Formats: sequence, structure tokens, C-alpha cells
Amino acid sequence: MACATTATSIVKTVCPFCGVGCGINLKVDARGNLVGVEPQQSHPISRGKLCEKGWSTAYAIRPDNRITEPLKRIKDRFYPISWDQALSEISEAIRDIQAESGNDAMGVISSARATNEDNYAAQKFARAVLNTNNIDHCARICHSPTVAGLKQTLGSGAMTNSTKDIFETELIVVIGADPTENHSVLGGQIFDARQRGVKLVVIDPRVTRLAKVADIHLQLKPGSNIALINAMLHVIIEQKLCDTSFIHQRCEGFEGLAASVETITPESVENSTGVSARQIRAVAELYGQAKTAMILYGMGITQFVSGTQNVIALSNLALVCGQIGRPGTGINPLRGQNNVQGACDMGCLPNVYPGYQAVTDATAQRKFAQGWGQPIALQPGLTSLGMTKATLAGAFRGLIIFGEDPVVTDPDQNHVRAAMKKMELLVVAELTMTETARLADYILPAASFAEKEGTFTNCERRVQHIAPALSPPGIAMGDWQWLKALAEKLGSQALSWSCSEAVFDEMASLTPSYQGMSYSHLQQAHGLQWPCNQSAPEGTAILHQTTFPIGKARLIPVHQIAVDEPPDDQYPLILTTNRLHFHYGCGSMTRKSPLLERETPAGLLFINPQDARNLLIHRYSPVGVRSRRGYIETRAMITDDVPPGLVAMPYHFREAPSNQLTNTAQDPVTKMPELKACAVSVEPLPPG
Ligand code: SF4
Repeated sequence: MACATTATSIVKTVCPFCGVGCGINLKVDARGNLVGVEPQQSHPISRGKLCEKGWSTAYAIRPDNRITEPLKRIKDRFYPISWDQALSEISEAIRDIQAESGNDAMGVISSARATNEDNYAAQKFARAVLNTNNIDHCARICHSPTVAGLKQTLGSGAMTNSTKDIFETELIVVIGADPTENHSVLGGQIFDARQRGVKLVVIDPRVTRLAKVADIHLQLKPGSNIALINAMLHVIIEQKLCDTSFIHQRCEGFEGLAASVETITPESVENSTGVSARQIRAVAELYGQAKTAMILYGMGITQFVSGTQNVIALSNLALVCGQIGRPGTGINPLRGQNNVQGACDMGCLPNVYPGYQAVTDATAQRKFAQGWGQPIALQPGLTSLGMTKATLAGAFRGLIIFGEDPVVTDPDQNHVRAAMKKMELLVVAELTMTETARLADYILPAASFAEKEGTFTNCERRVQHIAPALSPPGIAMGDWQWLKALAEKLGSQALSWSCSEAVFDEMASLTPSYQGMSYSHLQQAHGLQWPCNQSAPEGTAILHQTTFPIGKARLIPVHQIAVDEPPDDQYPLILTTNRLHFHYGCGSMTRKSPLLERETPAGLLFINPQDARNLLIHRYSPVGVRSRRGYIETRAMITDDVPPGLVAMPYHFREAPSNQLTNTAQDPVTKMPELKACAVSVEPLPPG
């Protein structure tokens, strides 16, 4: 009997999970089956390593878990239909809604894990086909304050340096981020840098793994970032640790900033921050005296009603000390999803076109109207949370979502679920069944990252090309392809590209920071970091080396803003949300892996031993958690990693959805909800 062929091919691609953007190889057998995943040894970021999520990629896209054909809801059941029927019916429903209620009654939510090409197509579909700026994605609930805050102070809302700078700095400050759980390969590199002698400061209410090895851990109270940073600035200015020549040559607004922190002494914020004046002074001196210091931050900065102001405070700190524009420095947001930077760059935001060109700017309006050859909507659109709110108010009727599960990931789940149920047309394109897809009128089968060509932009602005390794299961399709087909059903040729490269080329021609990129250029190495243009044909590893896009950087005074919902007698604990090493986002991909699921199979409530004792709660015993918005039941994990008065819950688990509890109070600038702090009560439950 002849042996079956064992030849395998290797396709280089990029991990589909977090914003680190590790390089992976997909091993495909002669029958076209995915038979293995391995790290790329020479990849400049991951350097031959992957975390457990990366190693488990194959489970996330297995054909037997996938949606393979379009599905239509009839009453409470889904029935398979053809693409032609699905797109014809969807286009008719869109026409009816827009004829009756106007263009702005429809909107699109794109995906931070879809390619740049898919995201570019999504925003063009919204703007040039639906004629609305109602386009958004999950950056709204992770780093929208980064985009808004750094745009104001530096002129560009992205990581200023590169991940390799971790090994070129004297001091790393990690604030409001937990990289060993969420950006695990990068977290491991911070450990390595620490072992090589780099100093490490962690500022976080929780005792993260990095906090345990840090030189100093400032365990501040949730939401007191601005008070703490302003007190550090006070010490730096008082002790003349500022970089005066940098301030003089490259910044404006120093006098106003100095006046605003004159009375904010470390002693004056001890109570509000929970951090001793001695520790605040020590960290301020360490940062102010370092030749090179690098700030890495995450959602412990952005997910507050003060999110944009928190980002501005960090920017003030880095600028005053001249810690920007050189190797081993910078202000560096750790973006969550593998292409959240790209989805923002592509203009999947209601107020900017691709490349952060404002929709209210007449020059940008003309540029895109001419580039696309048709009139476009001129007023900023609704955010994703704005769309759900408008639906409940009866002013919004139809939504197209791909690659996101807002029922699990957005705050106040009951409110989101009610809005999705009320939607007259809900179209969800997905790999697998999700909580949001369960409520859809139509579910469209999407192609995974391994089944399409395109590009992803990681957290250090590196645009990497991905090649298809597999065929999509059944009749699943890439997102820009079905958006193109839907546009044609609506009578528009606006998306009439022939291939992914044509989408990229059109995008690059309209997006200044991508203008020097092409597929052939990206394929020569492991991608290019934007801006990549005539003045930087090989890309840019460090932003703002000689100038800022706005000329001089702006120092802007900011003042402490209290959390929206402090604890009280009825809800005496603060709940913060966190993420776990073994899972990702809504869990729709990582929870398909039996290996990852075995590690953490269900939600947990992390609670301090003192609070657990007071409430008669035992390790792993069932508990009920209640906020003003909802109630869930889960299990207790008793740990000193959270201080007394604070409890923490991951949001990956639909069985114990922490977003039933979270608060929708928003940052007024970006509409970022305050996911990092809300008041709850916890009670023990009888053993189940
Ligand atoms: Fe993937 Fe992020 Fe893990 Fe790298 S660190 S393997 S990008 S999940």
C-alpha cells in the first residue's frame, strides 16, 4: 500500500491575538490541513518565542468549530442560506432603514483583529456606501484616550519607540499594565531586561508578576493616576531634574504646567493615592535622574472617566524629563489586539479618516471625496457605545459587526444585549458562534487570519504582511470581499478591488504615514514601522527624534478626577477588570483550545484574604457579586495580589460576565467607559 504523502509547507504569518505581533509559522500538510504552529526564530520582536496563546493558534481556527455558510434567523433558529440570498436581503433591509430614517440610522463596527485591508474596506463601506461616519471598533474601550491624548500633546497617538528599546534603557516604568498576562512575550522580555540590570518600577493597584520583581512597586488606589503623576512632576521640578534645554527647544506650556503642580506635593496626595510620599519621591528621582527611561502603559491608564487626562499626565512627565525621541525612552501604549493600532490607523473611528485626518477638516473631506470619486458624510459619527445608546432611544436601527462580541466585551451587558435585541437589522460576520452572533438576524461566515492575505500593524507601528496558508472552511469569505459584494448589491462600485494588494495600495495613497509602503517592500523583511514615506523610506523606529508633527510638544495641566462610582455602604468594594494569561478578549478563540481551557476553565473573583475573612468566603467557594447594573455568580480566588477593598475579575468568560457589573460612565473626550472601577458588593453562596 502506498504511503500518504507527508510533505509539509511552512507559511510565515503573525499571531492573531495581542498587539505584540509575534511571528509564527503555520505548518500545512499536502492536503491543506494545518498540522502545526511554531515560532519564527529570526523574528525581530518575538525572537523565537511564543506565549501559550500563540502556540494554541491552530485550535482557534479549526474548521469543525467554524461558521461555514451564511445563516438567517427565523424566530429563534438559524437556517443556512446562500451568500446571494443573504446579501440581497441585507441590502434591501439597509435601503428600507436609510429611506425611512436617514443614512445615520445605520452603522458599522469593525474588528481590531481583522486585517488593515478589511478595516479600510469597513470604513470606506460606511463612508462611501452607507454615507455615514458611524464607524467604530473596540479601540473605543481600550486605547481611544491614547489616540486623543497623545494627538493633543505630541501630534501622534501611538507608541513612540520600539519594543527592542526595552533592552536599551536604564529604567522601565510599567503603569496600569500587566504585560506578563496580556502581552506575554513582551512581559518575558521585561523580565530578561530586569535580570540584565535594567531598573523596573511598576505602578498598579494589583501586585502583578512584574510588581513582584520590580525595584519599586507603587500600589496606588484605582483611579488616582493623575494625583500621583502630578506629585512626581512636583518633585522633578522642585529638584530641578527637568531637561530644561529639551523643554525650551521642543515644548510649550511649561510655566502653566509648573504652576499647576506647585501645591501638589507628595505629602498632599498620600491619602488620595494610598502611596507614601517617600515612595513617590523615590520614583520621581529615579525617573528624573535616568539618562534613558521608558514608560509602558495599558488600560489601567485609559479605562477611566479620566482616561484622556491620564494619558496627557504621562506625556507631561516624559516631556518634562526629555524622555522622548531617543532610544530607550518614550511613552509607549501597549495596544491590546493584534491589529488595534491598524484599525485606528485605517480610520475605523467616527471622527477621523485613514491616517487620523479629521472628518471635519475641509481639506481632508475634499481629499477623500476626490480619492473615492463621490460625496461623503461630513459630520462625525456615533461611537460604538453611542450606537447602542441611540438604538435604545429609537434613533438607530441597523448595525453590521465583524470580529467583535460587544455583548461580552462592552460595559453594562444587560444594556448592550437589550440594544442588540432591539436592532431591526443586526448582521454579524464571525468565525464561530458568539453571544452577539446569537442575537443577529444574519450571521456571515468569515475567513480567519490564516485564510487570507493582508497586513497587521502591531503596537510598535510595525506593518507586517500575512499570506494565506489555508482555504476558508465551507463558503466563508474574507471581510473586504463580502463587504465589496454587499456594496455591489447596494449599487455601489466603491469597493471594486481585485485583490488585497489593491486595497492596500489605495489605502497607502491616501494615508501619509503608510505612503512609502507596498506589499513587496513589506515582504522583504519583517515589515516596516510607520511613518514610512519619502523622508523615511525604510520606516521609523523612534518617533519625534527632531520635531513633533505639531511643531512643539504641548505641556497641558491636568487635575485629578475622581472615579465615577466610589464605594459606599451598599456597595463597599471596588471592582476592577483584568485579563488572564491563558485567555483572550471574549474567549471566542482561546476557549476553543482544550489546553488553554484546562488552565483556566471559568471566571474567578480575586479577593484579598482580609475581605474574604470578613465576608466568610473560602478559597474557590461560590460567591455572588452585585453592582447597580447587574448580578453574577462565580468563584472566589483569595490572594494578596489585590489589596483590601479591591476585587478583580477577568471578562473572558460568558458564564460569569464581569461586564454585567461594569459602569458605562464615560471619559467625556473619547466616550471610553470606566471599566477599571465600579462599586460592588460580594456575598458568600452555599456550596453548589
Ligand atoms: Fe501572540 Fe501576543 Fe502571545 Fe505573542 S505575546 S504569541 S502576539 S498572544
